[in-house]
Amino acid sequence: MSHFQGIESYHPAIAEYHLLPFRFSHLQHEQYVLSNLAGEYLVLDRDALLDLVTHRLDQNNPIYTDLRARHFLMDSSTSIAPTLISLKLRTRYQRLAEFTTLHIFVVTLRCEHACPYCQVSRQSEDTLSFDMSQEAGSAAIDLALKSPAQLLKFEFQGGEPLLNFRLIQSIVLEAKGKAERLGKQLTFVIATNLALMTKEILDFCREHSILISTSLDGPRELHNTNRPRPGDDSYERTVRAIALVRGALGPDRLSALMTTTEASLSQAKEIIDEYMSRGFPGIFLRALSPYGFAIKTRSYRAYNTERWLRFYKEGIEYIIEQNRQGRDFVEYYAATILKKMFTSEDPGYVDLTSPAGIGIGAIVYNYDGSIYASDESRMLAEMGNDHFKLGHVLTHSYKDIYTSPRLLEALEESFAYSAPMCHDCAFEPFCGADPVFHYATSGDYVGRKPESEYCNRNMEIIKFLICRMEEDRFVRQLFTKWANR
Ligand code: SF4
Repeated sequence: MSHFQGIESYHPAIAEYHLLPFRFSHLQHEQYVLSNLAGEYLVLDRDALLDLVTHRLDQNNPIYTDLRARHFLMDSSTSIAPTLISLKLRTRYQRLAEFTTLHIFVVTLRCEHACPYCQVSRQSEDTLSFDMSQEAGSAAIDLALKSPAQLLKFEFQGGEPLLNFRLIQSIVLEAKGKAERLGKQLTFVIATNLALMTKEILDFCREHSILISTSLDGPRELHNTNRPRPGDDSYERTVRAIALVRGALGPDRLSALMTTTEASLSQAKEIIDEYMSRGFPGIFLRALSPYGFAIKTRSYRAYNTERWLRFYKEGIEYIIEQNRQGRDFVEYYAATILKKMFTSEDPGYVDLTSPAGIGIGAIVYNYDGSIYASDESRMLAEMGNDHFKLGHVLTHSYKDIYTSPRLLEALEESFAYSAPMCHDCAFEPFCGADPVFHYATSGDYVGRKPESEYCNRNMEIIKFLICRMEEDRFVRQLFTKWANR
């Protein structure tokens, strides 16, 4: 008989633990992503995942501690996990009580540009019947101020909204007076191509702290090809006005958006260089949406999701290298997803929320007084499909609009947590629901996710971001910084 016990006697005991609800999806090779209701995620090898679900995971394994800390399992050492999960879940959905924050006023459909990818089907410059009336503007203000949210953003869009600047002025003045009496705070944004910017307009913007959002598609040739206007000088006018706006309002009062056309796909680095050289702190690499002139002119179908993703990944890699060399620069779509991954805060970006952002994240008052559930909904309406029209500012009450069966049905059916495939998807906490996109492309609010470009695009981007963090310590630190901006 031996004086020593066998080696197996010294193996730590297999812990008794309970699994808490989680989902897992394949990441790459033998790796899987696990996520839970609290929005926590973890990457595990297949063997570790098997050990976890068959209750064979060793409690001295560092993975065990990680899984317990992130509420994937619970053992006798603590019983607080369910409470923490419910707290984090409540924080995640907190924004729902504070609706609707973004109110979009389409003050005119007129535009002096003729962009082939235009998603709002603009009208020529002199067609005054496409301007919003004073009466409709006032009624829209009253509806907007009924929102439970205390902080409201009014965004003026077009067409080119500066073509109806008089109405913008009167809405700002009227809304400020009414909001003050109700104790609400307003911020204003004008989404403009800047071609018609003048000193008088800038003076008004400075006086009323109005932010400016513009379009910059990339270097001169690309921008002017994408955004034709009389004189072929869209780029020149935009960069001249960027300097003017910054001088008048301050460097952080102006942001820019780009749209990816077929011509952009081979120029990811050049587009990013343009943004960096113009002093922007980041870029939002955006794909085309399937609405408006983008469909009529076939711009939308000019490239597929796979091609766009190659462009996106090339752009992200380039931005990572720029940061590695000491230049701070952000990609905003990635930053939004990362914020959802690493913080309890929901950035509230309409395309990446569930329940969807339609109506409760943003609402649109069209030039003719019609009310739409989102910007994309009115773009769909301009194509002859007004399924997401919720009413009219002059004839419908606040209650009619927000209890409209069209809105509630779309919100309920598209809720990702219970939608087919999203329900089982580990990426659901970082993704969203887009009933308008799916209605436009497949005729229902959910779509068939394996065929959905929205799903393919988001899943691929989320996987890409996680993989890059797994393989590169610098990228993990950089992405954590983006998440906490
Ligand atoms: S849309 Fe796709 S990626 Fe997003 S949660 Fe649903 S299944 Fe997952």
